[in-house]
Amino acid sequence: MAGPNTSKSNHSLSLRLLRVVLLSALVVGGLLSLLQIAYNAEKTVSAINEDGERLLAMFRDPSLQAIYNLDTEMGTQVVEGMFQHPAVRSAKIGDLGELVLAEKNRPLVQAPYRWATDFVLGQEKGFTTQLIGREPFDDHYGELSLVLDTADYGHDLVLNSAVIFVSGVLRALALALVLTLVYYWMLTKPLSKIIGDLSNIAVNHPGRYKLPKQPGHEHDELGRWIDTANQMLDSIEHHQRLHQEAQHNLQHLTQFDALTGLPNRQRLQSSLEQMLEGAGRLQSRLAILCVGVDDFKGINERYSYQVGDQLLVALSERLRRYGGRSGTIARLGGDQFVLVRADFDEPYQVAALAQNILDDLESTFPIDGFRVQLRATIGITMFPEDGKSTEVLLQKAEQTMTLAKSRSRNRYQFFVASIDNEIRHRRELDNDLRVALQRDEFFLVYQPQIDLKKYQVVGMEALIRWQHPAYGLVPPDVFIPLAEQNNCILAIGDWVLDQACRQLRAWCDLGYGNLRVAVNLSAVQLRRGDLPETVKNILRQHKLSPNQLELEVTETGLMEDIATAARHLNDLRDLGVGLAIDDFGTGYSSLTYLENLPLDKIKIDKSFVHDLLEDEGDATIVRAIIQLGASLNMQVIAEGVETVEQEAYILAQGCDEGQGYLYSKPLQPEDFLKFLREEQHISRFSLVQQG
Ligand code: C2E
Ligand code: MG
Ligand code: MG
Repeated sequence: MAGPNTSKSNHSLSLRLLRVVLLSALVVGGLLSLLQIAYNAEKTVSAINEDGERLLAMFRDPSLQAIYNLDTEMGTQVVEGMFQHPAVRSAKIGDLGELVLAEKNRPLVQAPYRWATDFVLGQEKGFTTQLIGREPFDDHYGELSLVLDTADYGHDLVLNSAVIFVSGVLRALALALVLTLVYYWMLTKPLSKIIGDLSNIAVNHPGRYKLPKQPGHEHDELGRWIDTANQMLDSIEHHQRLHQEAQHNLQHLTQFDALTGLPNRQRLQSSLEQMLEGAGRLQSRLAILCVGVDDFKGINERYSYQVGDQLLVALSERLRRYGGRSGTIARLGGDQFVLVRADFDEPYQVAALAQNILDDLESTFPIDGFRVQLRATIGITMFPEDGKSTEVLLQKAEQTMTLAKSRSRNRYQFFVASIDNEIRHRRELDNDLRVALQRDEFFLVYQPQIDLKKYQVVGMEALIRWQHPAYGLVPPDVFIPLAEQNNCILAIGDWVLDQACRQLRAWCDLGYGNLRVAVNLSAVQLRRGDLPETVKNILRQHKLSPNQLELEVTETGLMEDIATAARHLNDLRDLGVGLAIDDFGTGYSSLTYLENLPLDKIKIDKSFVHDLLEDEGDATIVRAIIQLGASLNMQVIAEGVETVEQEAYILAQGCDEGQGYLYSKPLQPEDFLKFLREEQHISRFSLVQQG
């Protein structure tokens, strides 16, 4: 009857009801019994009175006769007759005077209940009747008196009361029991069943289990309660699901990249942390490859941002193939992706993987009808060699990638301590670079350019040098990319232009009027709107004619923003300034732009000239470039000419000019002047020519 758990039985509704019903039944039963007992007492009092009056009526006539005759014997008999009644305690027949004809008494009956019954009925009760003769002898002869002892009546009353009381209590008990049973069947039992059913409800899916209806309670309050509860459970489940979905979406938003669906930096950090923990335990290695797209900005500008976005998605799909069994791929933002791999033993395997990725990314991406080509650079850090924490490993991988990009693109680069130092060094240089111009730490050196047919110096390339107060001479290959990044290049470029033209003016004034100076332009300068105006002003200021200035641009510089570059190059060409394409052959080497841009001269990169005699491939390239120049009606100059054999080869191929250590290293202005004055070099050419 109790609930499912006995410890809770004291709190069971049935028991509590039993207690309440029992108590109230007892109280009500007791009160009713008391009323009945009071009524019985009342009836007993009437019975005593009736008995008294009846006895008097019964014995009045014999008593009258006895007193009329003064017959004592008869009187005694009458009295004895009255004493036949057990309750009679005293009886007396007497006249009006002192005469007592007959009298009898007996003591009060002793009984244990008397204290109670005497209280209600009194100890005894007296009755008297006058003995009066019949008509015509209606004289008053005496009186008959009688006293009844209430003990007998009390006895009956007590017995009756006990029966009433006990039966009342028993009735109350029976009623309480019946009520409790009814309550148990109707309420407690189904409720306990429902409580049992409730425990079947799964917290995560409250709507999945339907509370069953209790037989016989389908339509009453319990049935309706179950219906309502089931509806409520359904709606809780529904809301729980909505909440979970919202939570899931939110988590997805904060953890995944919206464009590619790849994990974002935050998510990567937490999964990398776990991978690091695992690798630390197993004492195994991890490789973190940071993949950056080369010149993604250029791609966006060449096509459109939509194409750029689609390219990132396609790229992420391609990268997914390299996730391996247990690897992770994430997008750090922009054009940077990270791949974490654990399933390798040696770094060379990671290098092979990186090369595979680079090769794979080079095959074209068909997007929106375009065939988009891209290249990437990868920076690699290894756990545990390069760091123990997520932050350090990721940061170093990114830095390595950035550094590798700034040196030469489309390659992979492992992080090594020396690179770390280099990164610090670069950061320092970056700061110093911003003040180097004010501190007058730059100077220009000049490298002669020789007309190979006339064997004479026709010009020189101005090359910048930085005399760093702490590190001495810093090569331009190191600081020019830095200056391009922090935008110092604009001021530096202007200074170089001005300085080179000033120097040329000085040499013109010394009698070398038909020399031409070549100045290198950075991609950043090329993008500037006021470049033609600046050049024009400088030429005017130093009274130089435009054909005395040649500007060198690189292929990569051009490609970064081909449209703007083309516009500015045309303006410069209109000015009459010479335009040369530097380091030709190392970049895109696209015929289309060579044909469409107003270029006068091709500079064969020194790397091809260097191996010209040993490497047939390089020789072919050199020959091809020279022929290309001829067919496009462009001048060709070979840079990095170091030996007479190289010179002989390019000369034989029809190259117009040469520049390199064979003639001279880049020289300070005074040395360059000396070089011009001494005619040694000319005689050596003559020697070579004669030879
Ligand atoms: P570049 O314009 O291709 O310059 C030619 C580089 O080849 C120079 O290096 C020169 O010293 C070097 N060189 C010349 N002949 C030989 C040779 O026979 N053998 C070898 N091994 N090297 C030779 P440098 O002066 O270190 O300049 C490096 C690069 O820095 C330049 O390449 C140019 O791209 C850039 N640069 C130099 N000065 C400036 C400047 O004023 N502005 C800009 N934007 N870039 C500059
Ligand atoms: Mg150059
Ligand atoms: Mg060059």
